[in-house]
Amino acid sequence: MTAATLTIDLDAITTNWRALDAMSGPETETAAVVKADGYGLDAARVAQFLATQGVKSFFVALTEEGVKVRAAVGAAPEIYVFSGHMAGDTDTLKSNRLIPLLNSREQFHRHLSALPEHPFGLQLNSGMNRLGMNADDFAAIRDQALAAGPRLVMSHLACADEPRHPQNTAQLKAFRAMTDGLGLRRSLAATGGILMGPEYHFDLCRPGIGLYGGAPFEAAKPVVRVSIPTVQVRDVAKGETVGYSAAWTAQRPSRIATLAAGYADGLIRAMGANAKVWAGDVPCALAGRVSMDLLTVDVTHLETVPDSFDILGPHQTADQLADAAGTIGYEILTSLGARYKRVYTGG
Ligand SMILES: *Cc1c(COP(=O)(O)O)cnc(C)c1O
Repeated sequence: MTAATLTIDLDAITTNWRALDAMSGPETETAAVVKADGYGLDAARVAQFLATQGVKSFFVALTEEGVKVRAAVGAAPEIYVFSGHMAGDTDTLKSNRLIPLLNSREQFHRHLSALPEHPFGLQLNSGMNRLGMNADDFAAIRDQALAAGPRLVMSHLACADEPRHPQNTAQLKAFRAMTDGLGLRRSLAATGGILMGPEYHFDLCRPGIGLYGGAPFEAAKPVVRVSIPTVQVRDVAKGETVGYSAAWTAQRPSRIATLAAGYADGLIRAMGANAKVWAGDVPCALAGRVSMDLLTVDVTHLETVPDSFDILGPHQTADQLADAAGTIGYEILTSLGARYKRVYTGG
């Protein structure tokens, strides 16, 4: 039994959802974004639990993800699909009652001709230039769209992790210019937008990463813990090397523990020498390169070598590990992969 353990605290996810929900007024609904398999933590499991805790709307990136979430949450919650109504999606949207967020005039016309009675939302481009209709596209279909009654009109902020970035106010202004006075339900904020304050909240907020304990929600409760078993311990003499490319050289007689997880488990090579693992409360540096299935760790300073070490948990969050690798917590979480023994606590 050597697989590392990924423990996911469902109660912490609920705590984080409640805390984010409390930041907007009672008139604002707080949904949950569970795309990319619930940021790698299992969309079905997370959505099913959050639905029992009062979450009424879920967002996914793809219709296929929506199918999985629908099966998990039952008939009542609304499930929105960011990629909208793509060619070939019609039957799946219909049979799973998924709400596409229509991104273009082409999607809008496809939807109205294929599923005229089926609910939809609209995604507008307020300046991120990734998904959504530009103002002129929206103007061209606006009267027809209003007559058909969209459930939601939304846009997405490009710089919400930097509250003072001027693009935030520019996008807010652009979104309002397109939607003020139309009487539609509106949504602009993900996690970062919720933290920026009430003018960004509108009728519905769509947090993802904050639910899972990630920045920019600094007050989040940690949700994941990764513990990696020790496979072997050895002593190496001063001057000996450890791992691929002999990249680490013992500067003194050293003790090396070899742990059973590696870059195939999302512990990416780029984290290199900057990442730490933890023996209880004691940090230990990596010694040498990250292998596909193994990490080597300098444990010379430990009196006893434990049976397992933590790489994610209260001492080192996904964001801190991401910093060591020059990436973001989102990428660490969504890369963790399928090889872990998964344990869900709470719920
Ligand atoms: C991913 C995503 C979200 C959630 O963003 P977080 O930063 O994870 O809170 C919300 N809206 C859209 C359009 C997204 O793509």
